Amino acid sequence: MQKYPQTNGFVYLIGAGPGDPGLITVRGRECIGRAEVILYDYLANEELLRHARQDAELIYAGKVGGAHNREQSQINDLLVQKALEGKIVARLKGGDPFVFGRGGEECEALVAHQIPFEIVPGVTAGIGAAAYAGIPLTHRDFTTSVAFVTGHEGHDKDVSTIDWERLSVGSGTIVFYMGIKNLPQITASLMAHGRPPETPVALIRWGTRPDQEVLTGTLADIAETARKTGFKAPAITVVGEVVTLRKKLRWFDNRPLFGRTILVTRAADQAGEFSRFLEAQGARVLECPTIRIAPPESFAGLDDAIARLADFHWLIFSSANAVGAFFSRLHALELDSRAIGPCKVCAVGPKTAELLQHHGIRADLIPDDYKGEGVVAAFAARNIRGQQILFPKGDRAREVIPAGLAQRGAEVTAPVAYRNLAPDAVPPSVLTALEERRVDCVTFTASSTASNLADLLGENRFLNLLEGVTVASIGPITSRTCRDLGLEVHIEPREYTLAALTADIVNYYRSRM
Ligand code: SAH
Repeated sequence: MQKYPQTNGFVYLIGAGPGDPGLITVRGRECIGRAEVILYDYLANEELLRHARQDAELIYAGKVGGAHNREQSQINDLLVQKALEGKIVARLKGGDPFVFGRGGEECEALVAHQIPFEIVPGVTAGIGAAAYAGIPLTHRDFTTSVAFVTGHEGHDKDVSTIDWERLSVGSGTIVFYMGIKNLPQITASLMAHGRPPETPVALIRWGTRPDQEVLTGTLADIAETARKTGFKAPAITVVGEVVTLRKKLRWFDNRPLFGRTILVTRAADQAGEFSRFLEAQGARVLECPTIRIAPPESFAGLDDAIARLADFHWLIFSSANAVGAFFSRLHALELDSRAIGPCKVCAVGPKTAELLQHHGIRADLIPDDYKGEGVVAAFAARNIRGQQILFPKGDRAREVIPAGLAQRGAEVTAPVAYRNLAPDAVPPSVLTALEERRVDCVTFTASSTASNLADLLGENRFLNLLEGVTVASIGPITSRTCRDLGLEVHIEPREYTLAALTADIVNYYRSRM
């Protein structure tokens, strides 16, 4: 029981879920964001550390198989020590903290030192991995019970202390954690105690992750198949008739892009949405920021235009970044969307229009063709002679819009609202994946993503590392840049949107299955 606390310190024991970072609880994420110190495990997805405070101290307390990085007692001591220093500590553990996670022991240590704590449950691997393998652990036609069992009882004990007689026939579905090494003994014991050899078994490795692997068989043959195929931990073992339902209910590891690794090259502040699209199709996404959006060298031009916004007839946004840059400058000048007044607004495409809506602005014009030429074409039917047009742009914007509209008699003001800079380097994880030839497809969503990646890697290395990699480009202009750099373009959607690019990547791989 928690007694009167001796310290301002506090410990959250948080279940990180089985691997898919979306499977942490709302409460768990909230507590990660609050912590000053985070102790995390081998099995807790490191991506969750994104939710941590910038100044949080991150401590890896991992255990890999039997090779313990830190002994359990050291982890307990560290938790206690940090809490006694008055820190808010998050202990992030794979799955659920109280299911084979020694969370109970960590809690006991906290109680012994009268340190207050909270337990945030998580989706345990047995439940998460089975769900992502399409195996319902219970089903009225097959079983009414499920047991969670450890397949490895620590250094001094082995699986022989399990009550096999009862377990074998007492529970419909049996889920073993940490059971891969002892699989031959486990399957033999179950059969020796009355479970039929033809009972279906599934091994699920890295369940819920993009690299999930599932091996199915029977009690009689699964240990041998696992040995032959070199199937490794960490995996759970599901024993029981429910395993047969996977044939019908499989949904995750048969998605069109499952098993494909896709490199998304994007502006750092834009990477999210496209990656989510690809992940929803099953891809493992690596993000490589190739653009860093920065303020212009001087705001003079933009500020000048904003000061006389009332003079303009049209305001044109040709990218999401332009919308972001323009409105953040308005806000910095202590203005808001009302400053635009009756000025009409053109957005280059639906995505840009959607962003404008976040600022309370409905686009008056969206061209059919989502690029600069399309914007010019969209104005063809309108008389813009003598009209004042404001086009806040990036420093690398092409001249198509200002030149095209000026040619039709408009007076175009095109101040630089943001700059596209190259980041310092390619993330090491991306570089390794490229070097190990693990990347199936690379996506370019703007010319600058291609030219910046080439700059970052150096042109020879760029071509060398992308050899054999499928190239997906958002549209003809980006494709031309890719070809100029020496790449062959394999995928280019008809519509220049991320959704269309995703759909074409899916079709490309479907036709190759
Ligand atoms: N507390 C954790 C279990 C820790 S024991 C939980 O609730 O999930 C470690 C074992 O969990 C591993 O040996 C493996 O059997 C299982 N495990 C953890 N994550 C897994 C995953 N993503 N896929 C399959 N098994 C996993």
